[in-house]
Amino acid sequence: MPLAALPDEDVEFVLSDRTWCTPVVAELTLTVAERALDFRPGQYVLLQDEARTVAPRSYSIANAPRSDDTLTILVTAVPDGPTSTWLTRDATVGHRLLVSGPYGNFVADPDHVGPTLYLAGGSGLAPVRALIEAAALRGATGVPEPARRHTLLFSGRTAADVIHSTWLTELARTQPGFDYVRTLTRAAAGEADPPVGRVPEVLPGLLPDLTDHAVYIAGAPGFVEACTRTAEGLGVRAGRLHTEEFYAEPAPWHAEPTPASTTASEEIP
Ligand SMILES: Cc1cc2nc3c(=O)[nH]c(=O)nc-3n(C[C@H](O)[C@H](O)[C@H](O)COP(=O)(O)OP(=O)(O)OC[C@H]3O[C@@H](n4cnc5c(N)ncnc54)[C@H](O)[C@@H]3O)c2cc1C
Repeated sequence: MPLAALPDEDVEFVLSDRTWCTPVVAELTLTVAERALDFRPGQYVLLQDEARTVAPRSYSIANAPRSDDTLTILVTAVPDGPTSTWLTRDATVGHRLLVSGPYGNFVADPDHVGPTLYLAGGSGLAPVRALIEAAALRGATGVPEPARRHTLLFSGRTAADVIHSTWLTELARTQPGFDYVRTLTRAAAGEADPPVGRVPEVLPGLLPDLTDHAVYIAGAPGFVEACTRTAEGLGVRAGRLHTEEFYAEPAPWHAEPTPASTTASEEIP
């Protein structure tokens, strides 16, 4: 297997498109301005504006490597979150961004031969989408064998919070080895098509035995923690459990001095 790419620093990309997938999650397309980034599906990058007015923050790449080297990023707009607000609202098409990375080991295990389960909450779909796209591209989801199935269980609050449902539904239709299930956590039974409820309530009915599965879980820390406990209860083996927690970075960030603030570096808590 090829060695993972070494991270690159502050590579310039251009925001070439932005659309809202849900009321709070925007999909950004970043186009190469300087040079392409070598990454493995599931990895993440640090993003920051070119003028370094907002803190660099981690965002998972939501696609497998493409021939045009564009990157897709799914960003949840966090109220009062400086970087997510800049990415989802303040930046306009044509703005330059600094991209550093790739980082992380939330990547496919090439030695795994059994079935695979993906659990994603909200923009946690980003690295999972990259893994699923890569699995489809290498033909792994084209095989209708239960022992090698790929299953995605996506969790959203309401129907409006479900990301890429059209693409995922179509993929499940055309790829006989891929199943897509979405569950809604804020819809009452009878208000929406089943399943409704959180992953810990829904998963045991969907896949009661995970002893042969590789499991990939991505999203907010509480989501990852709850799903991990559930997957462990259903028998996943330790070496086959992969998690990506979208934790908020605790370290303070120091802005570079600018002509307008030369006395002290600015600190964003
Ligand atoms: C490995 C990794 C990958 C990540 N990938 C993604 C990704 O693909 N898409 C994505 O949107 N985010 C992702 N994140 C989270 C992202 O890095 C930022 O933490 C997030 O965008 C908030 O940054 P901010 O500067 O806007 O707000 P911050 O200044 O970091 O936070 C502002 C306030 O909001 C709180 N907060 C932070 N995040 C959330 C949240 N989601 N919901 C509610 N409150 C929150 C913080 O605790 C803080 O109080 C990832 C994080 C990690 C560690």
